[in-house]
Amino acid sequence: MKVFFPKFDKVGVPLLGVAAAALLILEAKRQLRRRTRPKVERLLENGSLAATALPALRLLLLPALYGTARWSVRNHFGLLPRLTLPRWAQHMFGFVLLDYGNYLWHMLMHKSSILWRFHNVHHIDLDLDVSTAWRFHVGENFASVPFRGGVVALLGVPAPLVLFYEVIFEGCTAFHHSNLRLPYKLEKQLCKLIVTPRMHGIHHSIVQRETNSNYSVIFSWWDRLHQTLRLNVPQQEITIGVPAYQDPSEQTLSYLLRLPFQKQRAWQLPDGTVPEREELLPQNILIP
Ligand SMILES: [Zn+2]
Repeated sequence: MKVFFPKFDKVGVPLLGVAAAALLILEAKRQLRRRTRPKVERLLENGSLAATALPALRLLLLPALYGTARWSVRNHFGLLPRLTLPRWAQHMFGFVLLDYGNYLWHMLMHKSSILWRFHNVHHIDLDLDVSTAWRFHVGENFASVPFRGGVVALLGVPAPLVLFYEVIFEGCTAFHHSNLRLPYKLEKQLCKLIVTPRMHGIHHSIVQRETNSNYSVIFSWWDRLHQTLRLNVPQQEITIGVPAYQDPSEQTLSYLLRLPFQKQRAWQLPDGTVPEREELLPQNILIP
């Protein structure tokens, strides 16, 4: 199995590092939602969790996806090699469909009680910023191998496209998790095409109906297509997190690593109330 991807490591990863650093600076200057916890504490917590998860992504998930793509194309297994498309169209089509696969995977993590145990670790962050983009339980990376590998095999995408998609995927994940306040008019247009910070902020709300919307990763049109789009929530009214996990003292590396294997708490605040919100505008209207 090919594990070394020089272009990805020498070009893609440094570019992602620059993008993350730029977003960190920008989100500090133009803050979208109020912070509830000290930034440095969260950077350390999310950074330590990322340090346990990223090796699995780089050394297992990526090589598995790359190897599967090569196998699929060589054996004319997937969809794309069967369509007699020009090379550029094959790449474009493959890129878009890979993104659709990730929309479905993200939705599945919310619908499956077993997968949610792992994805919950990402969602119980009490603030949302660039560091949340890499806050994942390593089990989520392991679990994604068969699903994302299956999508790659069924599509038969060119193997280098898998790596290119991953760089854009990670960059977009950093962007939409950031706490960056974009000009409202710009974001209103931008969220017609890609997932933006306001759109994804709603996905991290403690209101369950809001969490169970906006699953898209790069292109926002998958949520429009499946009617899971929700933009009508004012950002200043969003409480980030999961209601039963609001205690900051639980945000330790050891607790986060153990969380998927513990009894999951019901979707309610410690006093038993279930967070709700009245909807005043149609779902597809972005509110500042
Ligand atoms: Zn999610």
